[in-house]
Amino acid sequence: MILVINKNAKKEDVAKVKEMIESKGCTEHESIGLNYHIIGVVGDTSVIDEGMFQRSDAVDKVLHVQEPYKKSNRLFHPANTEVKVGNEVFGGKKLGIIAGPCSVESEEQIISVAQSVKKSGARFLRGGAFKPRTSPYSFQGLELDGLELLKKAKEKTGLPIVSEIMSTDLIDEFVENVDVIQVGARNMQNFDLLKELGKTNKPILLKRGMSATIEELLMSAEYIMSGGNENVILCERGIRTFENYTRNTLDLSAIPAIKKLSHLPVIVDPSHATGFWWMVEPLTKAAIVAGADGMIIEVHNDPKNALCDGNQSVKPERFEELMNKIKALAELEGREV
Ligand code: PEP
Ligand code: MN
Repeated sequence: MILVINKNAKKEDVAKVKEMIESKGCTEHESIGLNYHIIGVVGDTSVIDEGMFQRSDAVDKVLHVQEPYKKSNRLFHPANTEVKVGNEVFGGKKLGIIAGPCSVESEEQIISVAQSVKKSGARFLRGGAFKPRTSPYSFQGLELDGLELLKKAKEKTGLPIVSEIMSTDLIDEFVENVDVIQVGARNMQNFDLLKELGKTNKPILLKRGMSATIEELLMSAEYIMSGGNENVILCERGIRTFENYTRNTLDLSAIPAIKKLSHLPVIVDPSHATGFWWMVEPLTKAAIVAGADGMIIEVHNDPKNALCDGNQSVKPERFEELMNKIKALAELEGREV
């Protein structure tokens, strides 16, 4: 952080600024030229509220030389982070492929989808038990019964479970029953939820908010990580743009951008990004080439009658085909399916 000092700043005001810097455990590096006077703040500036300097009469401008996120920043952690989930890993050579229905609808449905995606090579089972629906009149999920059904599907297939949490009240329930806790796009900036998840040690799948910048996504990861939970997997799931042919616009450029800025694994959700089942395969391929560490794909045994997101759900046969098709591509990229 660099403070540009006003030309006519009073000595005592500058001295106060220096005191402020030292009170935060940082040191100052002052440089005075003919036409400028700057103070570099050296140390962990992530704990400093820059408003403190902006309010000082001595300070003209506050400039940043570093991003405001620290724990998720590659600068402080150059190697890729691998998030372990049981025997599986996100961020390693093997792609972390999550598949399953948008929502858990019945025992028969979740077990049959789980068995087929497992056979096709998925490493994790997704299934929403608590659904964040735009309309309160839409199916809201089977809630706790849904979590029970996911557990049954895990017993039958061994696939670890990924499911979305919506409220802090259910954290204990999720920690006990779920392998990866998903924070959906709508809750990416539910800071109370992020803080509470930071106190657990469960892997968290943090989806990008539909209007969130990459920096905002990383700041949300920072909320979880600064609480002590560094097991964060990021997910690009499409953002709102002026284009309305697709449900969202898949921001493929976010993958290399996040990889450059952060050491955390990044996966892609081609289902919610597009809203169309027939776009899932091409965008899964594009995501692999762009460097994604995995995918979360909606698969339903009967998409036409799905209670949620049928249009974007691929049938189990198509998922199997997709998994076979991406094998060679993944190898070309130095990855494994
Ligand atoms: C989901 O994964 O079911 C979901 C609701 O996704 P998103 O939060 O990305 O909209
Ligand atoms: Mn969905």
